[in-house]
Amino acid sequence: MKILTVALQKDNKLSSASFELVEAARTLGGEITTAVLAADATAMAEQLAARGGGRVLAVSNPALGAYNDETYAKVISELISKYSPDLVLGPATFYGKALFSRLAGRNGGCMASDATSLALDGDRLTVTRPSYGGSVITNLAANDGGPFFVTLRPKVYPEATEGSGEVVKESVDTACFESRTVVRESKVESGGTLNLAEADIIVSAGRGIKGPENVQLVKELAGALGAAFGASRAIVDAGWTQYAYQVGQTGKTVNPKLYMAVGISGAIQHLVGMQTSKTIVAINKDKDAPIFNIANYGIVGDMFEIVPALTKKFKAALQD
Ligand SMILES: Cc1cc2nc3c(=O)[nH]c(=O)nc-3n(C[C@H](O)[C@H](O)[C@H](O)COP(=O)(O)OP(=O)(O)OC[C@H]3O[C@@H](n4cnc5c(N)ncnc54)[C@H](O)[C@@H]3O)c2cc1C
Repeated sequence: MKILTVALQKDNKLSSASFELVEAARTLGGEITTAVLAADATAMAEQLAARGGGRVLAVSNPALGAYNDETYAKVISELISKYSPDLVLGPATFYGKALFSRLAGRNGGCMASDATSLALDGDRLTVTRPSYGGSVITNLAANDGGPFFVTLRPKVYPEATEGSGEVVKESVDTACFESRTVVRESKVESGGTLNLAEADIIVSAGRGIKGPENVQLVKELAGALGAAFGASRAIVDAGWTQYAYQVGQTGKTVNPKLYMAVGISGAIQHLVGMQTSKTIVAINKDKDAPIFNIANYGIVGDMFEIVPALTKKFKAALQD
């Protein structure tokens, strides 16, 4: 099988998901090619090569500095025509999903997004993905003809840490860099907190925090743990925090090692976004709250007592 993984970068830093894609491709075996697009992609291509990215195609052009659907899709489509992969793998992040649906449309292949596992049945790839908000787990195989485009949920595979590869400085038709859209500036809405989709620890707040003035209490707990801050839709809709933090069916799908839910009831639309977290801790004053059905550890009590006490303990523990 010929696999093309698409590594995405921001500000010349590769996402951790890029190395997870390499590991997923290596698990499947076959011929691995990795593409990295940037204003100057060489250094990042070298990192990918040193971690098993196989043949790493470095495509450098000022137009590729910031992510742009149109230019990225044109460049990768040209690489697909040149290298004819059977499988094209990308991250199931906002940019990854936008890019891959465009690529599947342009290149006439099958598409599966948000895969949680990849397996070979003979030489046929089977992709497992949650459907209908996580209530059904689907196994999909592509039809013959055209590459299979798959986005992989972050944190399902570990990052590739070592391996070998070679960097190939790739040039593509200059028409690829022409775009009707120009990205002039991008600003991080989340005010500098960690990226939810890639975070190892997330502490999320729900309506149990009572008001916007208490968001900070939960953010302090997140800060003490080196965690990203998340939110239920109830507090986003109420305007207590921004949509960028929302976890769930209409927000982000996350898969951290530890997910702490503070004052969140556990509605199905929230659970579908976080139920694959490795360890779930819930803090809720209602012992019958549905969140406790999926929590590994539950603390029944008032978050206004528990959260500051945990923050204090974690801060003290990390100072020791
Ligand atoms: C189409 C659709 C899409 C949706 N998408 C999403 C989505 O992406 N994400 C999402 O989160 N929701 C989503 N929802 C909304 C979802 O159905 C719930 O309404 C929402 O998740 C509830 O948020 P919550 O748990 O914060 O609030 P609530 O359900 O009001 O729960 C608050 C919890 O706080 C507890 N509590 C109260 N006071 C305290 C205290 N002092 N200490 C400790 N605990 C306390 C309560 O016991 C309660 O369990 C969607 C709904 C629809 C219809």
